[in-house]
Amino acid sequence: MNASDRSFSIPVSAVKPDAGALLHAQGVTGRARPAAAEAAAIHLLVRLAAPSAVVREVSPKKFLKVFAGEGFNETPNPLEAVFSGAERLALFAVTLGQPVCDEIDRLFSVNDSTLGCLLDTAASLAADRAAAWVETERHRAWAKEGLRSLRYSPGYCGWHLSGQKKLLAHLRPGRIGLSLSETLLMTPVKSISGVVAAAPPSLHAFEPGFAFCAACKPKSCCSRKKEGPSLIMTGIPRRAATR
Ligand code: SF4
Repeated sequence: MNASDRSFSIPVSAVKPDAGALLHAQGVTGRARPAAAEAAAIHLLVRLAAPSAVVREVSPKKFLKVFAGEGFNETPNPLEAVFSGAERLALFAVTLGQPVCDEIDRLFSVNDSTLGCLLDTAASLAADRAAAWVETERHRAWAKEGLRSLRYSPGYCGWHLSGQKKLLAHLRPGRIGLSLSETLLMTPVKSISGVVAAAPPSLHAFEPGFAFCAACKPKSCCSRKKEGPSLIMTGIPRRAATR
């Protein structure tokens, strides 16, 4: 697949979470069989989600201007070293489309908060998997001994959320129906933007020792030390579970 600048669909089967992952994300443990509500949420997701992506490969020199964003990044941060040492970089954005987001809103508007919460969580997991799908695809396409391809998103590791502005301006995500508001909210909400960076593994293996790490819940830099692309770094707010 040529990642120079293209948009494409991702099979919904590739992003569908299983019931176990949905239960885990909801904080439910120890249940042997999924409840009907979990199955209903996954069924709705499969029916309504239309995962798609835009990907554009850029030179490291060009990307550093994108990364500078609006000038609000934290200093120091671990990403400058990753991006400065990367051999390949691809901007990306993925979305599940508006219908599944509309259905989440509708379920909450009719006080079906159980199914609404489950669908909200399932959609967040699916958007994460869509981003991971792009990450894995780039990892394979750029396969080169001694490099790892991992994704990073504005809002994490010192990259200010306002970095979405320049990132998305370069991607033209209107091609997949995605836009960014003045308040930095992507529409559809179940969307993720970021960059996949192919760099020597040592550059990806940074420690959580920065001032901003105290507010970071995923602490995904720690889980990234294992090999291969991984399901981490999302920027999608999830509604709190109500049960
Ligand atoms: S703790 Fe969080 S913010 Fe800090 S380096 Fe790790 S992933 Fe990035």
